[in-house]
Amino acid sequence: MALLALHGGAGGDGPWRGMTPMDPQRIACMQGILEALGPRLESGELDALTAVRLAVEALEDEPGFNAGVGSVLDANGRVSMDASIMRGEDGAAGSVVGVTNLRHPIRVAHDLLERGWPIMMAGPGAEAWAAEHGHEVQDPNTLVTELRTAQWQKWRDARLRPGATDEDDAALDHDLGEDVDGPGTVGAVALDAHGKVAAATSTGGMTGKPPGRVGDTPVIGAGTWADARVAVSCTGVGEAYLRACAAHEVGVGMRDQGADLGAVCERVLDLVEPLGGRGGLIAVSADGQIAMPFRVTLMYRGLWNKGHISTGIGPDLA
Ligand code: ASP
Repeated sequence: MALLALHGGAGGDGPWRGMTPMDPQRIACMQGILEALGPRLESGELDALTAVRLAVEALEDEPGFNAGVGSVLDANGRVSMDASIMRGEDGAAGSVVGVTNLRHPIRVAHDLLERGWPIMMAGPGAEAWAAEHGHEVQDPNTLVTELRTAQWQKWRDARLRPGATDEDDAALDHDLGEDVDGPGTVGAVALDAHGKVAAATSTGGMTGKPPGRVGDTPVIGAGTWADARVAVSCTGVGEAYLRACAAHEVGVGMRDQGADLGAVCERVLDLVEPLGGRGGLIAVSADGQIAMPFRVTLMYRGLWNKGHISTGIGPDLA
């Protein structure tokens, strides 16, 4: 049995009002990834780690998502990206923080995982390491899209509004309104044919974040976690996921014999939510359970489960 679940970020307040014009493209991207990788995972050709890396690379390539090309812009109107990846079998991990010129941050995080030391690199040091190790480096401006520029301008105008506070400053993608929408952070979790799990997450962070801000995504145990029992990828207001060590908490909850993954994930969101952690997470367990809960209007989701593909944005997965 094999499972592959994807997310493309979460956000928004109130009921879901249906697809925006860019949503079919995002759903098609997820569908294509699941069609391409699902059978190879099921047949044993791909292990869980390779599947989540390839899935997140493809999501980083889709400009409609907030990772790689199409990342959101910080307060200065620049892209800086975070990514991490973890293998459940042996707890191997890799992570990059605040990188500005990498085509595929997740590929560099994966390379760090494979080499084993160091496991986490930030900023110019990470970029230099990536270039030295043959990774694709590009002009940061080529990662900036019109959608994200429009979103950033909207964020900047709102910030100039009288009465706006620091708390309003950084915004999840869907908080910026439908006319300049854009979903977010991407992630993947997989269970392979050998019963092993892995997780990966990649993001441009939050629109208008102060340069240097680090969210949960690159932090092993906060935004990404995998152990022998479960793999987890989170999305939402990173500060809350960091403070709750959210992804690792799912791992802790799954240590009990016969634990129910859905119930464990809901308990973790119960911890995250009071800290301001609007968002969701996806998780698969080595015993074949799957959970994709969220506590906001929408979370872009895709699932490959025994040859059946389902995708969804609002409450339903079809
Ligand atoms: N968790 C990400 C961050 O805080 C944002 C997101 O998931 O949309 O950087």
